[in-house]
Amino acid sequence: MSRAPIELEVDAALRRRFTAPLLKWYDGSGRNLPWRMTDDPYRIWVSEIMLQQTQVATVLPYYHRFLEAFPTIKALASADLETVLKLWQGLGYYARARHLHRAAQTLLSRYAGKMPKSFDAVYALPGIGRSTAGAILTIAHGKRYPILDGNVRRVLCRFFAIEEDPREKSVEAALWHCSEQLMPRRNPSRYLQAIMDLGATVCTPRQPDCPHCPLQKPCAARKQGLTDRLPVKAVSKKVLHFDYFAGVLRVDDFVLIRRRPLQGLLAGLWEFPGARVDSHEKKGAVMAAYEKFFRETLALNVRGSHLFMEIPHAFTHFKMTLHVFSFRLKKRFQTGGPMMWVERESLAAHPFSSAHQKIVLQLCQSPDRPRLFV
Ligand code: SF4
Repeated sequence: MSRAPIELEVDAALRRRFTAPLLKWYDGSGRNLPWRMTDDPYRIWVSEIMLQQTQVATVLPYYHRFLEAFPTIKALASADLETVLKLWQGLGYYARARHLHRAAQTLLSRYAGKMPKSFDAVYALPGIGRSTAGAILTIAHGKRYPILDGNVRRVLCRFFAIEEDPREKSVEAALWHCSEQLMPRRNPSRYLQAIMDLGATVCTPRQPDCPHCPLQKPCAARKQGLTDRLPVKAVSKKVLHFDYFAGVLRVDDFVLIRRRPLQGLLAGLWEFPGARVDSHEKKGAVMAAYEKFFRETLALNVRGSHLFMEIPHAFTHFKMTLHVFSFRLKKRFQTGGPMMWVERESLAAHPFSSAHQKIVLQLCQSPDRPRLFV
């Protein structure tokens, strides 16, 4: 039997009961963040992108460095991707940086380096979803577009005690509708920042601070004792684990590195050459897979390599253990395509993924001492 579509109606009285205490709370408890002190859509856009999947405390130093290097859309559009990725190094989810860069180039070529004020034009830019477009236009230009990021979704699911999965299409549509209905006509920008802050600091994913919440009286989840159970979580899938290997091939003080393709996982970042161990290979055969890889791809015999590092790392959809082997060659060979030899001390000038960055650090600090993380 199909379930009745969820309906969340917001009348003027409910809007008042929601927004009035929220805005009052925001006056005294809102966060003092650098992107709140500007109405420059570029700065707001950069902050919104950096804050996706990332905590404020992590974002702050990156935000300042990024804007110091690229103070305008034009400066970002004119930079090369490698410089952008280097400044993003460590923040993760690198597609965000590539999209920012590409969107800045679009803005420069089509809109003279300015963020347009039309929702459709902003929404069409790479890496900008409905929520991000809404946040940019509402906060920068005082327009009235709803958002439904993780914080807002959580507050609404609890406030209305929604026991359905918010990722279901019909529930998501109802939440968008409700988010829009709740927005006041006057000063929607302040309202948006208030609800974002409430979700980030009070109505947190774990242990919401209901006694200090301005919405505690009308909140249905609190009244029904459901705050721990809402929003309904997705059934967690088994996280797959893969073994990868990489080779630190050295000649004197030079190391071989390669650039990843410009599409796909960790696109455009540098790494030490290697691959994933085929799942059908026997456990313990990582070294054999590594030797075979270099024999077949570069006609190199790397027998006698030693285990330099073992690095556990988690991506969004899988986990990996990166087995890093080290080998000294007698002389450098000609490289081409995505590979090149770099001096050890110049490694840090290139953007590497987090796991490979650990290899870079170890090579810069103690090049001959293996370090095992697992
Ligand atoms: S009362 Fe608790 S659950 Fe309800 S909105 Fe406030 S913090 Fe969230």
